[in-house]
Amino acid sequence: MNIILLGPPGAGKGTQAKFLEDTFKIIQLSTGDMLRAAVKSGSELGKQAKEIMEAGKLVPDDLVINLISERIDQPDAKNGYILDGFPRTVPQAEALDTMLSQKGQKLDHVIEMKVVDDVLVERICGRYSCAKCGAGYHDSFQKPKVAGVCDGCGGTEFKRRADDNAETVKTRLAQYHAQTAPILPYYQGKGILKSVDGMADIAVVTRQLEAVLRA
Ligand code: AMP
Repeated sequence: MNIILLGPPGAGKGTQAKFLEDTFKIIQLSTGDMLRAAVKSGSELGKQAKEIMEAGKLVPDDLVINLISERIDQPDAKNGYILDGFPRTVPQAEALDTMLSQKGQKLDHVIEMKVVDDVLVERICGRYSCAKCGAGYHDSFQKPKVAGVCDGCGGTEFKRRADDNAETVKTRLAQYHAQTAPILPYYQGKGILKSVDGMADIAVVTRQLEAVLRA
């Protein structure tokens, strides 16, 4: 099963993708995670992407299209995948269609997670994760059970994304509305777009997503 989770930054795509990975035995492919890894490694791609990401703008289409095309050829993607953060422009969506038909694959579901902008700023600016296992936390909504200690692995170091600050979030939301939202009618026209209420509690959203995917 190949699916796309669409939605603005902070909608909960990454959080939900992690649950769906376990339930449906498919893998999360996040272009944001891949680009952050490239920046960290200091690769040529990382060098090209770093400043753009820090400014909250979009990395050129051809770079992310190549990244995804190579990634879905890997053996661990054989059973299916959840695209998180890709496609983000109509040309990326069109390139994905071409790429999938060349690989003899198809999209099974495109699901939009709807959340209003006001909530997103608060969600994004308060989030952080365990530096060791990646478990996600939030200053207000999801604190570790013991302050400063990761519930999952006991790690005591945490990190915040360089682009999760109020200034950059505004640019990221503007980019979403200008460049990514036009993808919604693109998939609606193909009759594969569904939506869930991303404002609900995390567990409720998970149930809504599972219902869509099992339908
Ligand atoms: P994310 O982790 O999905 O919020 O992505 C973080 C940043 O990576 C974005 O603000 C963009 O700069 C870049 N990025 C991630 N995915 C894409 C994409 N599909 N197209 C262009 N830029 C992307």
